[in-house]
Amino acid sequence: MFEKALSVLKEYFGYDTFRLGQEEMIRQILQGDNVACIMPTGGGKSICYQVPAMIFPGVTLVVSPLISLMKDQVDSLTEAGIPATFLNSTLDSYESSQRMGDLKRGKYKILYVAPERLDGEFFIDLLNDLEIQFIAIDEAHCISQWGHDFRPSYSRLGQLIRRLEKRPIVAALTATATPVVKEDICAQLEIPVENTVITGFERDNLSFSVVKGEDRHRYIEGFLKNNKEESGIIYAATRQDVERLYDRLTNKGFLVAKYHGGMSDKAREEQQQKFINDDYQLMIATTAFGMGIDKSNIRFVIHYQLPKNMEGYYQEAGRAGRDGLPSECILLYSAQDIRIQRFLIDQTTHDFAKQEQDLAKLQAMINFCHTEDCLQKYILHYFGEQTEQKCGRCSNCKDERHVVDVTVDAQKVLSCMMRMGERFGKTMVAQVLTGSKNKKIIDFSLDKVKTYGIMKEQSAKDVSDFIEFLISENYIAVSSGSMPILKVAPTGKEVLLQRKQVLRKEQAIAKVIVEDNDLFQRLRMMRKSLADSEGVPPFVIFSDQTLKLISSQK
Ligand code: ADP
Ligand code: MG
Ligand code: ZN
Repeated sequence: MFEKALSVLKEYFGYDTFRLGQEEMIRQILQGDNVACIMPTGGGKSICYQVPAMIFPGVTLVVSPLISLMKDQVDSLTEAGIPATFLNSTLDSYESSQRMGDLKRGKYKILYVAPERLDGEFFIDLLNDLEIQFIAIDEAHCISQWGHDFRPSYSRLGQLIRRLEKRPIVAALTATATPVVKEDICAQLEIPVENTVITGFERDNLSFSVVKGEDRHRYIEGFLKNNKEESGIIYAATRQDVERLYDRLTNKGFLVAKYHGGMSDKAREEQQQKFINDDYQLMIATTAFGMGIDKSNIRFVIHYQLPKNMEGYYQEAGRAGRDGLPSECILLYSAQDIRIQRFLIDQTTHDFAKQEQDLAKLQAMINFCHTEDCLQKYILHYFGEQTEQKCGRCSNCKDERHVVDVTVDAQKVLSCMMRMGERFGKTMVAQVLTGSKNKKIIDFSLDKVKTYGIMKEQSAKDVSDFIEFLISENYIAVSSGSMPILKVAPTGKEVLLQRKQVLRKEQAIAKVIVEDNDLFQRLRMMRKSLADSEGVPPFVIFSDQTLKLISSQK
């Protein structure tokens, strides 16, 4: 039977070989096993169900949440000679019933439906009439409450399948499933957990970078000037951001398209086509753009702000380099974005458990921006792939700054948190440590906290950043409320007990080395006031002792 699969691949899709994971998926499906597939965006999930659909007798049902894309998908299948159709809310009742008639007469091999459709009794009757043998569920993470895009209508799929007269083969496909989501998908759809095909999440042609502390606009304009011929996407958090950035770049003479939910269908379609046809090199969009878009030569994806979770981030960034050529994924990070994302989470849901979960996901995203370990490795760990290998391409792997021992500073932060009773957030802790003159902080500190001002030679912002770093490296745990509280994590306790050393890349672009301790302290104070006023590049002043530590590590 598998030879048949290869000939279908050639005949209808024009490819000679299967990609990683496709063959295994298709073999299992053709054997009659239920199977789940976790494959990164651009990996080629569609082929995994479209090829079996051409081999099985009768109609294959494809459940997909993306109504806006069904027509395109069906059109391109039809063009390839695969009879396909869709049923969704964009059709009037006349058209729907006509298509259903055609389906019963065996005119189609593939039927796309939106999950909302599956509820009606009449639909179950239709499926029974069609004797569906195979159901593919695309974007299967929507079935899980633990996923980042839960859709209630998806959660009724398991029940629907159980109600069919003949049990079909079920294939679930998604690009983004953490281990918990994977188990949930398998449980709901009765897929044996061992029947999961997971292809590497690593995309070895993508280079990830996190860019901090730069003027976003200046950075983007500079980047675009150096990449004039290349196609790319900039993702922004809100419609207003898209509009503003669009105006700005258009005024500067760049050819850009835009896309967001506030535009008319026609305008969106038009802009999308301009981008896809390479009339315009650049697309500025909210996350509404890109699902299912098949454009292989995207050379860069820039995130204008902190995304709300790793799932969405990796899906969007992963739209770069589908053709396998080297491509860049750049995240422009500023700590202020955290507040915006917290606010958005607060606005979109009043379900407390959901909010907690969203905030925890946001924290993982923030940690990505603060880790000093390989970014690719961080992503793979997040999605449950264990690896210790570093990619050698990301901004952290390429970061050649010195590593410095910051154990003493870490101990100061951790012990301050302990003394404050582990009841406060980052800002409060940083204020106490740097000896803020805020009356509230002084009053609070005087009777309770001996650690007040023990890091006063640093700015509150630097200490805040340092705390974020300690969080991202798991020395500090944060509760996931809207006012996150810091707690000393088990590895942090090790640090306090002198059993663990904390190393960090030196946070500076220039160094001044002084021998004299008094002068050293005075310079550090001066640095603090300079860093507090804008426009002065950060620099670090090393004491003799720190210097010795650095050279001993080289
Ligand atoms: P996904 O749904 O996993 O994001 P798609 O199914 O949209 O990915 O496929 C992404 C791209 O890869 C498409 O352009 C598709 O034609 C191409 N592709 C899929 N399978 C193969 C293959 N075996 N050989 C070459 N190209 C492939
Ligand atoms: Mg897909
Ligand atoms: Zn790396």
